Amino acid sequence: MRAGLYIEAEQVKMDLIDKPTPQPGEALIKVSFAGICGTDMMIYAGKHPRAKAPLAMGHEFSGVIEEINGGFESFSVGQRVVIEPTLSCGECEACRAGEYHVCRTLKLIGIDKHGGFAEYVAVPLNRLHPIPDALSDAHAALTEPVAVAVHTVRRSNLKVGDNVIILGAGPIGLLIGMVAKQAGAGQIIISDISPYRLGKAAELGFTALDAKTVNVTEEARRLTGGIGADVVFEVAGTQITAKQMIETVKIQGQIVVVSVYKQAPTVDLAAMHFREISMTTTRCYTSGDFAKAIRMMESGSLDVSSLISHQLPLEKIAEGFELMHNPEESLKVLFRP
Ligand SMILES: [Zn+2]
Ligand SMILES: [Zn+2]
Repeated sequence: MRAGLYIEAEQVKMDLIDKPTPQPGEALIKVSFAGICGTDMMIYAGKHPRAKAPLAMGHEFSGVIEEINGGFESFSVGQRVVIEPTLSCGECEACRAGEYHVCRTLKLIGIDKHGGFAEYVAVPLNRLHPIPDALSDAHAALTEPVAVAVHTVRRSNLKVGDNVIILGAGPIGLLIGMVAKQAGAGQIIISDISPYRLGKAAELGFTALDAKTVNVTEEARRLTGGIGADVVFEVAGTQITAKQMIETVKIQGQIVVVSVYKQAPTVDLAAMHFREISMTTTRCYTSGDFAKAIRMMESGSLDVSSLISHQLPLEKIAEGFELMHNPEESLKVLFRP
């Protein structure tokens, strides 16, 4: 079968690999759509600690069940599904506590084993979620990043009417803004250095700050009456935003760190201490968050259409990754294997 493979740093290509055989308890999924995520970009850069080449990346994907190995009444051949890509061990202290998404040895389909940039993927049945009729295969492929945003907002202290600052207007930053709006946020301020992404943020009704032309800290303070935000979401993963997150949050406000930092930032704990600021981190999502993400898209309360910038055939895998390199041209790139 055809697969879009990570070969080595900065090199991807379409090649043939063996079609997987579903093991007992697994289904063979014919992939419909698969999105490129920031994590895939980290693999592409050769900086992911676990991904081993050659690898069919892609952990954000939807598809159709082609074959099921073993009896499982909840699913049937021909059914449209979206894949929750996390694989937990079931034995560590987190798993025993039911917190599978922070499993000590958490693995992901598309990082630790072949994923959705391929014609077929074998997936454990308990990782499948049915796609409701009202939800398209392309939109369903965005369930994973939507679930990240749902999990992030649910882990925050956000209350109705709260002012929110989001540092970073990539797909996850924009989705956090959309979910925060659903959760009743008041003013939603979002910063980035890409005019294209800031344009999307403005279209979605957020107050967009161009970090290249304005002082984000001063502007965020001005927009919040000199007080700062109730909740700041750090989604850019840079030293600059790690400083801004403390400067833009209000006294006793909350910082939620969503970013995966390539390099550990310096964080001014002294500045946090004097203002009794709290900080929390987030990772992935629970199965419940994943199901909520599907329901929010199904009901139309959360529309991801504007986030999909490109739909490409698998043959154009290299082009897809080049597009993602340029935040002036792309937001979410989907492949159609
Ligand atoms: Zn992702
Ligand atoms: Zn575990």
